[in-house]
Amino acid sequence: MAVEQQTNKLIHGIGASPGIVIGRAFLVERFKVRLPQKRISSEQVEEEVNRFLKAIQESREQLIEIKEKILDPEVRRHSFILDVHLMILDDQMLMNDTIDTIRKRKVNAEWGLDLTLERLDTAFKAIEDEYLRERRSDLHYVSARIFRNLLGRKHDDITKIKGKVVVVAHDLSPADTLQMNLKNIAGFITDIGGKVSHTAILARSLEIPAVVGLEVATSLINGGDLLLMDGETGDLVVNPTDEVSQSFLDRKRRIKLIEREVLRYASLPAETRDGVRIRLQANIELVEEVSSAKMHGAEGIGLFRTEILYLNRKDLPTEEEHYQTYRRLAESISPATATIRTLDIGGDKFLSNYSADNEMNPALGLRAIRFSMKETDIFKIQLRGILRASSHGKLRILLPMISGIEEIRQAKAILEEVKKELIKAKVPLDAEIKIGAMIEIPSASICADILAREVDFFSIGTNDLIQYALAVDRINEHVSYLYEPLHPAVLRIIRTVVQSAQQGGIPVAICGEMAAEPIYALILLGLGLDEFSMNPVAIPKVKKILRMMRYEETRAMVDQLFQFPTASDIECHVRNWMAERFPKDFIECYGEDLTS
Ligand code: PEP
Ligand code: MG
Repeated sequence: MAVEQQTNKLIHGIGASPGIVIGRAFLVERFKVRLPQKRISSEQVEEEVNRFLKAIQESREQLIEIKEKILDPEVRRHSFILDVHLMILDDQMLMNDTIDTIRKRKVNAEWGLDLTLERLDTAFKAIEDEYLRERRSDLHYVSARIFRNLLGRKHDDITKIKGKVVVVAHDLSPADTLQMNLKNIAGFITDIGGKVSHTAILARSLEIPAVVGLEVATSLINGGDLLLMDGETGDLVVNPTDEVSQSFLDRKRRIKLIEREVLRYASLPAETRDGVRIRLQANIELVEEVSSAKMHGAEGIGLFRTEILYLNRKDLPTEEEHYQTYRRLAESISPATATIRTLDIGGDKFLSNYSADNEMNPALGLRAIRFSMKETDIFKIQLRGILRASSHGKLRILLPMISGIEEIRQAKAILEEVKKELIKAKVPLDAEIKIGAMIEIPSASICADILAREVDFFSIGTNDLIQYALAVDRINEHVSYLYEPLHPAVLRIIRTVVQSAQQGGIPVAICGEMAAEPIYALILLGLGLDEFSMNPVAIPKVKKILRMMRYEETRAMVDQLFQFPTASDIECHVRNWMAERFPKDFIECYGEDLTS
């Protein structure tokens, strides 16, 4: 941690969720506490033991208080994790082993606990049971709390904070985010992560500005520093002067004006000047987001991510939980359609029971449909929930991470089996429910002509597709400069998928983050996509740009893009083309300083 107070220190990261905010830093140190190791005399032993017991008691009280303060019922549902932490605090081995070490080896309480942890760590690593092994991270979380109490450090207890803060962390998992009182969070800052890491996506859907991939944030920033952040550009200023704050706030005002102007487009159809209609839909993770989706003009839910149902809990969601969630979704978006993606766990999203710790390459490992095909009972429970809910509105099923036709056939066979069981039991359902494939693995895009015969629709997941096509980890800030949505390879892949879908007579959607960028959206229009799905907030500005275009003209321009050798040549050509045609509107759409 840096000691000197710095002024106007500019750090540049990756803009992950737009918005300009100023707030005090709240450092989530997690496992980064430095421990004093001291030998003690025999007379000091009982004092150290008592210090240790007091720190345990304080930790217990803090956890109980945090648990009691969770007001949001959605978040409360996930509070099981705090019970696990309380159980660890009561663990006799942790307690007795540490006290024994303090007494026998005559070391201070911090060192005693650290030695116990080392021993437990070794024991945990040898455990075969994945669920138990995963409890190791909980043990560390709890110990970090005990250490802080021993050291008299302030805690990362977000519930105690008055006013809004900017949370600064090395990393934040979706599970971390759910435990926070989001009303007190002005922004998120992390050392690691990229624009399409799951944390970034969650921040966007919660409309909380975020800058990720700052690398040095937790070591440069001190708790309480004043932070000025721009979640669009990725700029972060530590302890800004009034002059610098003013320039950011002026920019914020300009953006607000543009946003207000753009919001007028929410209720208008996404139709080009020559009458081509595109369906703009929303990507969401919670049923509660449906109102925001509607407010921003979504014509349906193009991607309902279901991972949150499985996170932060020891057990798995029941069929009834699935059913109730999807039923609420179907009813609240009715008469429009909601596309439910089956569990897409793995990569940067983990289930507590099924840790991917032991996989060398989790992004290439047992994730998404592969997991569902292995754990078919878990998959069936989710399908039963979806099918039962399908009688309450219009639902579609989307299969994630399809790599070839066998996975689709296998999933469809299981769907048919589940359907038959329900029909036999006289449970009402939509027997014609549509089933689609995410196209996010290069093999699926290359064989899209084959896959098109097997499904009712495609949804291109560019977040992963770009990662796999360009071999660029979507959450690794060191290679994020290579993560180029306009890479000639990416455009060629999308063109192939659209052509295959058209030849196969099925609609093709895009649900990757790429669709939310106006400049990319117009290229996607020219490539012939039928549906775009994106975070709700982005819908009005994409509608606005689509309504400015003529489809035929855009298509001709996009055809030209295939002659350019690099992503920047492509982007430059599109920007010039737009600036020539719509000098005023283009600037309004992007804001003055975003056009360069
Ligand atoms: C994608 O990969 O583009 C996608 C929409 O899915 P996720 O971001 O959840 O992996
Ligand atoms: Mg994906």
